Amino acid sequence: MGEQSPQHCTPIYCHLAHLPSNGLLKVVLGQLGEVPRRRKDKLYSQIMDRARRVEGTLLLVFDEAHLLSGDALVDLRLLVSSAIEQGPPMKILLAGQDHLRQTLKRSEYTDIVNRISVRYQLCPLTKDQTRRYIDFQMSEHGGDDSMSDYSPEYLRRLRNEIAWRDLLERLRWVHKIREGRLVFQCPRCRETLMAVNARTNLGRCFRCKENWNPIDFAMETWELEFQSAVGILDPLLPRS
Ligand SMILES: [Zn+2]
Repeated sequence: MGEQSPQHCTPIYCHLAHLPSNGLLKVVLGQLGEVPRRRKDKLYSQIMDRARRVEGTLLLVFDEAHLLSGDALVDLRLLVSSAIEQGPPMKILLAGQDHLRQTLKRSEYTDIVNRISVRYQLCPLTKDQTRRYIDFQMSEHGGDDSMSDYSPEYLRRLRNEIAWRDLLERLRWVHKIREGRLVFQCPRCRETLMAVNARTNLGRCFRCKENWNPIDFAMETWELEFQSAVGILDPLLPRS
């Protein structure tokens, strides 16, 4: 084993999984440095041609794969099938949330499921792993002690005392009042299905079943690092 060279891959990353299938194939081509052609059959052959010219195996990575449309899943399956039958070597990695698994259980996706050779489910991090992950990310980004720049009390206030309406306005994030209740867009699934739990001041998406505190929400929506998110939130704290 030690003498074998590791499998060489050229990875292409695509996180715009919510696009219609044609758009998705065009994004893949764009990532490969190609100008996409018009017709779908041409898009296929263009991707295959390009795959022949990469070093090793072309690995297409689709993040947020739970957002892939039925058409897109079928197209990806066809792409992999022709790669298996005629070459060039190509692999597809679908990384998504739990409902991807549920979707793939449907009978119309049996063909794509039969093409899957490796599955892996990531379990949530434990508290300790989360702490270590955050520490690692902070030090990687040169902010080693930045968390400790803020007192726990200050961080608690940022999580608990910021009014979500102010926050959404500050972030210019889609929100509205529906039946007297503030609802807003989820940064994950993009559905306007989030509301605030007044007791915990957490925003919750009723589709993803995920909770967000104001700091995490600001980091996610604006792709901010922790310190920048604090900078955005600070002016929104009620002044006594
Ligand atoms: Zn959601």
